[in-house]
Order: sequence, then C-alpha cells, then structure tokens
Amino acid sequence: MAVRDWEAVIGLEVHAHLKTRTKMFCRCELEYGAPENTRTCPVCLAHPGALPVPNERAIEQTIKLGLALDCGIAARAIFARKNYFYPDLPKGYQISQYEAPLAGRGRFRLPRPDGDREIGIVRAHLEEDAAKTVHAGGATGRSVGADYSLVDFNRGGTPLVEIVTEPDLRSAEEAVWFLRLLRQTIVELGISDAEMEKGTLRADVNVSVRRRGEEGYRPRWEIKNMNSFTFVGRAIEAAIRQQVAAHEAGEPVEQSTYDYDADTDRLTVHRSKEEADDYRYFPEPDLVPVEPPAELVERLRAELPERPADRIRRIEPAVGFDAAVELVTTGRDRLYDRLVAAGAEARVAANAVMNEVAAAGIDPEAVDAGELAKVLGARERLPRDVYLEAVARSADPGFAAAPFLEQEAVSDASALEPVVEAVLAANPEQVQTYLGGKEGVLGYLVGQVMRETRGKADPRVVNRLLREKLRA
Ligand SMILES: [Zn+2]
Repeated sequence: MAVRDWEAVIGLEVHAHLKTRTKMFCRCELEYGAPENTRTCPVCLAHPGALPVPNERAIEQTIKLGLALDCGIAARAIFARKNYFYPDLPKGYQISQYEAPLAGRGRFRLPRPDGDREIGIVRAHLEEDAAKTVHAGGATGRSVGADYSLVDFNRGGTPLVEIVTEPDLRSAEEAVWFLRLLRQTIVELGISDAEMEKGTLRADVNVSVRRRGEEGYRPRWEIKNMNSFTFVGRAIEAAIRQQVAAHEAGEPVEQSTYDYDADTDRLTVHRSKEEADDYRYFPEPDLVPVEPPAELVERLRAELPERPADRIRRIEPAVGFDAAVELVTTGRDRLYDRLVAAGAEARVAANAVMNEVAAAGIDPEAVDAGELAKVLGARERLPRDVYLEAVARSADPGFAAAPFLEQEAVSDASALEPVVEAVLAANPEQVQTYLGGKEGVLGYLVGQVMRETRGKADPRVVNRLLREKLRA
C-alpha cells in the first residue's frame, strides 16, 4: 500500500512555436511583445472570402523536426479543420493536421544512467496557434473573477508544431528529463526558441497509474498548458499521489482535464463549459495536400545537427554519464570536443570546461581551443593564478598560451635557487628557529620567495629547495 507499488504512465503533448518571420497562413509578421492587435489581416482575422497560403518555411521546419525524431515523413500530408468555438478562434475552427500529419511514427532516445530508454513518438504535426485571451482582472485562469476578457489576435495564426508521445514515460523525473532534452533538440534545430516562460513551448501532460505488472491503462488525467519544467514535475507527482490514494481507497478516478494549483500542490478538476471533444475534423478545402519532394527531405536530413542524446552517448565513455549530461545540456560539449580534438586529455578538458571556463563567464564558442589545450596540458606545472588567468583570457581575440606557459620556467630549480639562497641569507633568525625544530616557520620563508618572484614560483619547488638548503 504505497506509491512504490504503483507505476506511472505518462505521455506528453508538446507545442512549440516555429521560428518563422510570418504567420502560418498569412503574411502578418510575428513579433513577440508587439502592441496588441497590430499584427493582423483578413486571413488571420477570418474575414469572409480570405484564403490561407501555407508558410513553406514552417513546413520545412516541421519536416526537419520529424527527421530529428526519427519519424516517417508523409509523402502526402493533409491540413484539416478542427472545429470548435472559442473567442480566441475567429474562424470557428483551427487549421491543423489529423489523419495525415507531416511526421508520423518516430522515437526519441532518452539516455539514462543504466542505458537508453526509447520514447515512442506518435506524430509531429503542423497547425496554427489560437489568439491569446487575456482575462480582465489579471488572472490567467478561465474561471477567475472578472466578467469580461480581451483577445490579442497577434498570436492567432502563429505556426505551431505539436509533438505527441506514446505513454512511455514512467516518472515525473523522467518526463521532465525528456522534455528538457526534447527542448534542446528543438532549439538546436533552429526551428523554435522554445521558451516556456514566453509561452513558445507548452506541454500538456497525460498521467495515469497502474499496479506494477498490471496490463492496460487506467483512467488518465490531462493537465494542460504547463509552462515550466518545475510545474510539470510537480503536477505529475501530485497526480500520481492523488490517483494512487484514490485507487487504494476504492474511490472513482475520473478521466478528465485537471488544473494544477501550485499553492496547494494539488490537482482539481478543470471547470469548463466545453463539452466532450468532438471536433468533426475534415480536410481543409482551401488548401491542397502537402507533398514534400524527396530531394527536399534528403537535403533537410543532411542538415540535421548531431542530437543531444547522441552526443551524451558519444562522450560518456571518456568522462562518465553525469559529466556528459552536464556538458551537453549546458551546450558546452562543443568546446569540450574542440579541446579534445586539439589534444587535451578528455577528463581534464571536461573538468576545465565545466569548472574554470564556466566560472570565468566567457563565451565557450569564442575560446581558441588549440591554445587553451596547451594551457590545460601544462596546468599541473603552472601557478594556480596563472592558470586561471590563462583560462579567463582564452576567449580574447588573439589569445596565445605561450606567455602564460613561460611562467612555468619559475618552477625550474636552477632559476629559483639564487632567490632561495638570498631569502635564507636575509632571514637568519627564521633559519635558526627552523633548525631549532619549529618547522612551521617554513611557510614564512616560502612566502618570502613567492614575494621575490612576484608569485611566479611554483610553491612545491620552493618548498623542496628550502628544505634541501636548510638540511645542508
Ligand atoms: Zn494575418
């Protein structure tokens, strides 16, 4: 009788705004934050007789995403009308894709410490976003307070890709990890900014639970329009807790849409006047089917960057899983790759990129990897401050390692010997103290040598030389 006797079954529907200059079916420009209702025209306001013209760039971007998700690309994709009434939808229907989406079945490789999980992709289709309803009174929920709402049609008609997964995710943590990696994949394809806080990436979450070993599915809860990774994770945790409690108490679990309340950390049934979904899809009569030429698909396939999951697996053997994840998810693995290609040792490069380079706040892309690799190779011999200074300067134009590497010459014993002897001669009192058995005074003498060399001596060498001279 515990949550651990149960298994979560989680699927996601992820929406991302595509990064096009204009809207999906008209020439209105997309500009985040533009004054309300200044990016509209007869097409996106649904004036009678206005005809949609599809955005070619959005179609290409969707194909590209489909390829990155290992989806089959439709030879003939069809736009369909999804009919429903809402004030943010002036046509009374949304142009979407239903039976023939641009991208069909695919899969997403999700690296885990104990091996890959494969998350099935049902489809990735292209549609237009609705306009934005702004509830007077400031609340964003539909049920709160004010007696009227305002609509901003700037967002109406924004190209939107929807990715639907199989219910293959098994925990809140896994769902959030999938979402993060999917987001990074989308961003690196250059097709969307996918920023949850700006609403250019949104996720609907479907959650149910079943006893471990149980076949089939129990009723699921749908949580719509989640706009932060944290809330996605917390809402799933809450859904699991509440459903397990209900099943164990023998209470009914209703399949419905739920709202997550962050204050109470609980889900409540979404109160809505909408009836059960019956969208009466039918092919959009104003648009011809999309038949992507094979050459186009192959060109887009050739343009695909190496996927984040593949990069994690590629560099993992050299640096370990956690470091590989950190490098890739921070986008710092490219500098790591360049350093290794320039001859740096893998773990040394990984540590430097994650620690010193990150702490220096420099642009990894601007770093001269060949020169920094030389610094990393010498880092054991360099005084710490010189090493850090070299790393911090490695993104400067014309950065050269040589002047920093020269400073290792001061660890050369023959160069330090005269300084050590001079310091001993100048401090007879401390020498006597040391010889009298108080070895702690050695630190003072080391400090004097460091001062004489303006910090450029290797303290380990100075230490050794001082002990040798004092023993003689
Ligand atoms: Zn328009």
